[in-house]
Amino acid sequence: MTGQQYLESLRRLKPCLYYRGERVEDVTAHPVLAPHVRAAALTYELAHEERYAGLMTARSHLDGRPINRFTHVHRDTGDLVAKVKMLRLLGQKTGSCFQRCVGLDALNALYSVTYEMDAEHGTDYHRRLAAFLAEVQAGDLMCAGSMTDVKGDRARRPSEQRDPDLYVRVVDRDGRGVVLRGAKAHQTGMANAHHMVLMPTMALGEADRAYAVACAVPVDAPGVVHVFGRQTNDGRRRAGLGVDVGNARFGVVGGETTTILQDVFVPWERVFMAGEWRWTGTLVERFASYHRQNYGGCKVGVGDVMIGAAAVMARLNGVLQASHVRDKLVEMVHLVETMYAGSLACSVEGRATPSGAYLVDPLLANTVKQNVTRFAYEVARLAHDLAGGLLATLPSEEDFAHPEVGPLLGKYFQGAGQAATAVRVRVARLLENMTGGTALLESMHGAGSPQAQRVMILRQAALADKQRLALELAGVPEEERDLLLSC
Ligand code: SF4
Ligand code: FE
Repeated sequence: MTGQQYLESLRRLKPCLYYRGERVEDVTAHPVLAPHVRAAALTYELAHEERYAGLMTARSHLDGRPINRFTHVHRDTGDLVAKVKMLRLLGQKTGSCFQRCVGLDALNALYSVTYEMDAEHGTDYHRRLAAFLAEVQAGDLMCAGSMTDVKGDRARRPSEQRDPDLYVRVVDRDGRGVVLRGAKAHQTGMANAHHMVLMPTMALGEADRAYAVACAVPVDAPGVVHVFGRQTNDGRRRAGLGVDVGNARFGVVGGETTTILQDVFVPWERVFMAGEWRWTGTLVERFASYHRQNYGGCKVGVGDVMIGAAAVMARLNGVLQASHVRDKLVEMVHLVETMYAGSLACSVEGRATPSGAYLVDPLLANTVKQNVTRFAYEVARLAHDLAGGLLATLPSEEDFAHPEVGPLLGKYFQGAGQAATAVRVRVARLLENMTGGTALLESMHGAGSPQAQRVMILRQAALADKQRLALELAGVPEEERDLLLSC
């Protein structure tokens, strides 16, 4: 699809979507939602540009046809690298979150897991998943990867919750399909996707078998209710205004819904897991690894824009050449490129799964995301340092446009060089938008909170092997090494 065709396809959907107590009829025209829609639309638009074709498109392994890379199952490490580069490009172009990666990661994780699950259980999930994938590729559809449950009491397993609906579960099943009840939180891109691809939120035990469910559901299926969340400064997105929004075209960051499933029927053909609790841990780990790989792509592109904006602010303050300013810019570049290096590394170290789909190196992917939870904040802190207090105290765009105070503000906010005051105001607002509350929180909790990465890092770290290395070099005899490591 072109970007325009994507917008038209969204207008044909009728999701039950609320924002601030009102039903949203058309996400493409709503002042708060439209920027997110435009960011996702860019994943369609750039795929039609010759110069980006290598990154933005791929060849379907199902039928050999050219497809958007956001619908592709990675076939080698080159695909994994291309994905990171594609995300950096889109981060640079949007300065925001373009949302479409979550569904891509869900499809890739399910592709390999259903294959292995079928081999063990004799089930039919992989064929169904491949049929759904073929539909997604042919229609160039956007899927929202739907993992995070609302979770209630974190100290209790799903079936131990006071209310059993706090994790999405199967409440009924018959010869036609399953019925789902529950709610998913933080659903990036859901408001402007075609389908949601649901997965369990964590590794489950046998008692939680009913919660071990993965499937695809149209966003406007009967019984599905979405509530779009608030973001920092979303009240500034009003008709006729734009400068104070900062990034009026693409918004602050993803745009998330809480999605409630009120006894939603899903036909078996769209069910990719139903009760195979032993496979939930593998599915969650693979999805999380793919999604954590992304953050050294998209956040790096966004970081490039932040560095540029900070440099422009320093230029307009007349201090771009000052050695401490240049050193801070170097530090920002160093942090951003370190994140990028991690994402490239986990891609290059990827390996084939039995299905033929390639998976990133999980330890490196989790390390990248852990870095992002810190480095993105440090990059933003340095941007604040360089841009100055103006970011927090600047008068409104209405005041700058006012016939009386506007010219006065224009005079007193002029910067170094010839640039109009309006340039300084625009860049300050962009940086304010990119480094404010909601945008940074995404770097912390998107693709899982820092502790989730630390759990996986520990699991992947092979600490016993590392201890063995040390004991061997220290000259500890082999029997003693074994004895020590066995207790
Ligand atoms: Fe994609 Fe997630 Fe990055 Fe948004 S934050 S651009 S969904 S990887
Ligand atoms: Fe995210």
